[in-house]
Amino acid sequence: MPASKDIGTIVVVEDDPNISDLVDMYLRREGFRVLQAGDGEKGLEIVKREKPRMVILDVGLPGAIDGIEVCRRLRTDGVVPVLMLTARDAEVDRVLGLEMGADDYVTKPFSPRELVARVKAILRRADGPRKESPDVLMAGSVEVDTGRREARVAGEVVALATREFDLLLFFAENSGLALSRRQLLEGVWGADWYGDERTVDAHVRQLRKKLGDALPLATVWGVGYRLG
Ligand code: CA
Repeated sequence: MPASKDIGTIVVVEDDPNISDLVDMYLRREGFRVLQAGDGEKGLEIVKREKPRMVILDVGLPGAIDGIEVCRRLRTDGVVPVLMLTARDAEVDRVLGLEMGADDYVTKPFSPRELVARVKAILRRADGPRKESPDVLMAGSVEVDTGRREARVAGEVVALATREFDLLLFFAENSGLALSRRQLLEGVWGADWYGDERTVDAHVRQLRKKLGDALPLATVWGVGYRLG
């Protein structure tokens, strides 16, 4: 089973796990990579790190900063499109959300299909005629060139197998996070891949062997691995 095609990352900031899991499932089905955050601070942190294509943001969030404030901060930091989820048909939420720069909103309860349609519409508008940016991520001192699907150390291409490259890319995209073998399997091989977590270990061994000290990949005992 091939890994699901990755057409970009969407961050879902929502404290109700039923809703965020549902949104997550539908977006993954469309090929998006989805990262969830249960509060505003976590959401901002993930957005900063991951530079997603889009943020889906609940208005009512627990903790110090609610969805409106998250939206405001996202707007001061960059241009990531924001789709807001409002708890009720609350005019004030809508107005505030749009004033704060949200691109669109959906009122709960919403149909997942409608949500997906809104997401796609926003992305079409946001992407416009702009060309894809060349994506080179760093994994330690390894350049991970997603356009050419090449890994380079000090300018030299290191030959990697497809899954090795995908795994390296996944680490680069989630730099600094301890990732479990299960997360790695799902992220790289796909959630419905039938396999054993030792597959991950075998691929990590290959990456370490091929990339050596250029790849600062730590083993996190009892969990999995962490880049950086
Ligand atoms: Ca909420």
